[in-house]
Amino acid sequence: MTEKSLINPRFRSIEDNLKEIRDEIAEAAEKTNRQLSDITLMAVTKTVDASLINYAIDNCEIKVIGENRVQEFLSKESELHLDSVDTHLIGHLQTNKVSTIIPKVKLIHSLDSIHLANAISKESVKQNLTTNVLIEVNIGKEESKTGFYYENALEACHEISEMPNIKINGLMAIPPMDSNNVEINTFFSNMYKLFIDIRGKKIDNINMSVLSMGMSGDYIPAILSGSNLVRIGSKIFGARVY
Ligand SMILES: *Cc1c(COP(=O)(O)O)cnc(C)c1O
Repeated sequence: MTEKSLINPRFRSIEDNLKEIRDEIAEAAEKTNRQLSDITLMAVTKTVDASLINYAIDNCEIKVIGENRVQEFLSKESELHLDSVDTHLIGHLQTNKVSTIIPKVKLIHSLDSIHLANAISKESVKQNLTTNVLIEVNIGKEESKTGFYYENALEACHEISEMPNIKINGLMAIPPMDSNNVEINTFFSNMYKLFIDIRGKKIDNINMSVLSMGMSGDYIPAILSGSNLVRIGSKIFGARVY
């Protein structure tokens, strides 16, 4: 037990949090005939200090971290123990940051427009690399969010699959914040249907393998609906301080 937990019995360590999360993931996975190892647990590290992120990497078997903003990631990058993790970008990417970020991340979850796909493709050709992306679906058709509408996602996949040096690995979605449990389940199961549907088309140059959905508040229903990558921040590291 850490000193803090002796002083404040409500203080939970990152280990306690991750133990609970992993138990719950394993249980939900089992209900859908999968196991813990079939679900990627991403630690979302926005606003989290590099020292705490390194603690999770070094001691808690975190293998994937997700950063929201390019600028924040660059400011922490030199301090992070990145040799032992994959870094993913999960927030909206501006085209003027594409050249900086593409050599540094394994997967971009937030491919939210054809314009951005073109920029990534062009810059990836220039840098002689292939950039892996997920198509972000604006599942709740929220004006405040970017991303493709559900009914346009397949067409976007076809179009992006023709572009050089960019490869679609799957889909990502964030349901509206104010959704109730029934709505959340509908959003997630629609996403799973779309994922299976597109995967079934066997489009050239697409590897439909990742379905990224579920955050601290909804990772269990997400997994029950078929998610295989959950992005969890506050439930691991505590409430964010901006
Ligand atoms: C912040 C963030 C998360 C994690 O949110 P929590 O509710 O803290 O788990 C997941 N995905 C994206 C895209 C985020 O921006």
